[in-house]
Amino acid sequence: MSGVMVLVEHRRGEIREITWEMLAKAQELSSSLGVEVQAVLIGRGLSGMAQELRPFCHRVLVAEEEGLEAFNSEPYQQVLGRLIEERRPVLLMIGHTAQGMDLAPSLAAALDLPLATDCYEFGLKDGRLWAHRQMYGGKLSAEVSSEAPTKVVTVRTGSFDPEGLREVGGEVEEIKVRLDPFPWKRFLEYVEAPPGEVDITQAEVIVSVGRGIGGPENLGLAEELARALGGVLACSRPVADKKWLPKDRQVGTSGKTVKPKLYIALGISGAFQHIVGMKQSGLILAINKDPKAPIFQVAHYGIVGDLFQVVPALVAKVRERKGG
Ligand SMILES: Cc1cc2nc3c(=O)[nH]c(=O)nc-3n(C[C@H](O)[C@H](O)[C@H](O)COP(=O)(O)OP(=O)(O)OC[C@H]3O[C@@H](n4cnc5c(N)ncnc54)[C@H](O)[C@@H]3O)c2cc1C
Repeated sequence: MSGVMVLVEHRRGEIREITWEMLAKAQELSSSLGVEVQAVLIGRGLSGMAQELRPFCHRVLVAEEEGLEAFNSEPYQQVLGRLIEERRPVLLMIGHTAQGMDLAPSLAAALDLPLATDCYEFGLKDGRLWAHRQMYGGKLSAEVSSEAPTKVVTVRTGSFDPEGLREVGGEVEEIKVRLDPFPWKRFLEYVEAPPGEVDITQAEVIVSVGRGIGGPENLGLAEELARALGGVLACSRPVADKKWLPKDRQVGTSGKTVKPKLYIALGISGAFQHIVGMKQSGLILAINKDPKAPIFQVAHYGIVGDLFQVVPALVAKVRERKGG
């Protein structure tokens, strides 16, 4: 039966948050289209995860086989290719994550299916897919569409709220896997980042610096503000890439997700990869000299100005309030 398929993303025995986000969207589409939500779970030792998923899908399609222990786009593509040919879903959702970016383009190309990547909103109307995606660092939104019977979308993390997931009480179905014997890329091992001195995920106040800080010689300014507020320093990816701050201070899709009471973004443009990691913060203050910077779309308060003028004024104000 045709349905909305969600590829379950999991790592080291744990279902990743993007899966629940996609299932929330799949449930919404399934209600309006009257089709099944089908979760596709590929790997080894999957019974626990299958049971975890089952209440929220009409069907959990489980594909277990030796060699599928860790994500590998080539055998994943084979499993999904066969499933799509047999079951013809109206839509396949894959997370726009490192795994999804590896898998989705080659899968879509091999099956000649339309692919819309990095979508933050989409729907189906009369069989036609419409999908919204941002371009040019979030300054432009584009709508793409397709009328093909089966479409593939990769879904931006943080776009859908899994809080509203309903129990639909589904079933688990084992899928027979036949993998072609060709030389796969081989998974070797997971490498954990070494623990740093400061855990930004636990901080209540974060002062986060972006490329706008100009260079490591200016970090002292941000540090002063962090100290005045009893907070810690974090950063956007370019700052970590340039080694102005250690990698464990990076916020975003390829860094950490933080949820402090107060997040101050200094000279950060607000690319979605950064926003995803901090948008749950209690209060967001952005300081940026570009009034059109996308960070202002998520900030509760914004100051359009030069951080080198604004930050010293802020530090002075905080100290004055604290009486020192
Ligand atoms: C696969 C992938 C994963 C990624 N993961 C992450 C991630 O985890 N985290 C992350 O942050 N990024 C990530 N990125 C990078 C992301 O796309 C952006 O490039 C990055 O977030 C931009 O960092 P920025 O805002 O510091 O720099 P820029 O985009 O260069 O912005 C600098 C900002 O500073 C402002 N500015 C300059 N000077 C001043 C001044 N004197 N006063 C005030 N404002 C000033 C400018 O107006 C500008 O808005 C990822 C990208 C990819 C492709």
